[in-house]
Amino acid sequence: MALPCDYHMHTPLCHHAEGEPWELAAHAVELGIPEIGFSEHNPMMRNDWDDWHMEIENLELYLDKVRKAQTDFPQLTIKYGLEVDFIPGHEEWIKDLASRYPWDYFIGSVHYISDSFDIDNPDKIDQWKERDAYEVWSAYLERLTQAADFGLFQIIGHADLCKKFCFYPERDVMPLFQKFLETARDREVAIEINTAGLRKDCKEMYPSPAILKMASELGVLLTFGSDAHAPNEVGADFPAAVEFAKSVGYKSSCRFTKRNREMVPLD
Ligand SMILES: [Zn+2]
Ligand SMILES: [Zn+2]
Repeated sequence: MALPCDYHMHTPLCHHAEGEPWELAAHAVELGIPEIGFSEHNPMMRNDWDDWHMEIENLELYLDKVRKAQTDFPQLTIKYGLEVDFIPGHEEWIKDLASRYPWDYFIGSVHYISDSFDIDNPDKIDQWKERDAYEVWSAYLERLTQAADFGLFQIIGHADLCKKFCFYPERDVMPLFQKFLETARDREVAIEINTAGLRKDCKEMYPSPAILKMASELGVLLTFGSDAHAPNEVGADFPAAVEFAKSVGYKSSCRFTKRNREMVPLD
């Protein structure tokens, strides 16, 4: 099986990942993945926003590290991306970041549903316990839909990240996902199958089968990402991810070069 591009991976610049880009690239070559892309957590408007994003003054260093991986592994195509936190009010900052380099793609992700609640942060479990799960999921989906509508993202990251710690609402959430997916389709923004969910409490890929099936039926574009935070996570569970995509009707995924999209058939 030819594996698809792995477009979601991190570097030590975000302070919670290990392995330099060339080490991740070496693992991709070993697996026979033809193309990867780095998507480090973006610099935020202020470096003291939190402790898990890269600092703005390290942007050049990030690009240099990716460039070294390209030089070391000419047989592998390596793309320049960022995983960008979508927070209302940060739009101008995101546009500024977009203008600083001819990026291949931006992954728009929602981690924060308020300035102090990043819902996937293990240190914030207490906030989950204090709130109604449906209220958190709706706030998350509202931002995710805004992110899809924003216009600067080629891909939306881990679309149902809100399931990470298994706080599942009793109410039906599919109408929330439908609105998000229709926006993604209309704005031609891809979603990703992100295999990191398998390594979290929820023990399944992002998104869940019902959401991916709806995405496929609506004609939403697709990419693949391991969300690697270490070299041995590159391409993790990719054969299963491809089978998952095919099982709900996907026949192709996307690759991006300087924000231009090409379709690649699934093998
Ligand atoms: Zn991370
Ligand atoms: Zn993320």
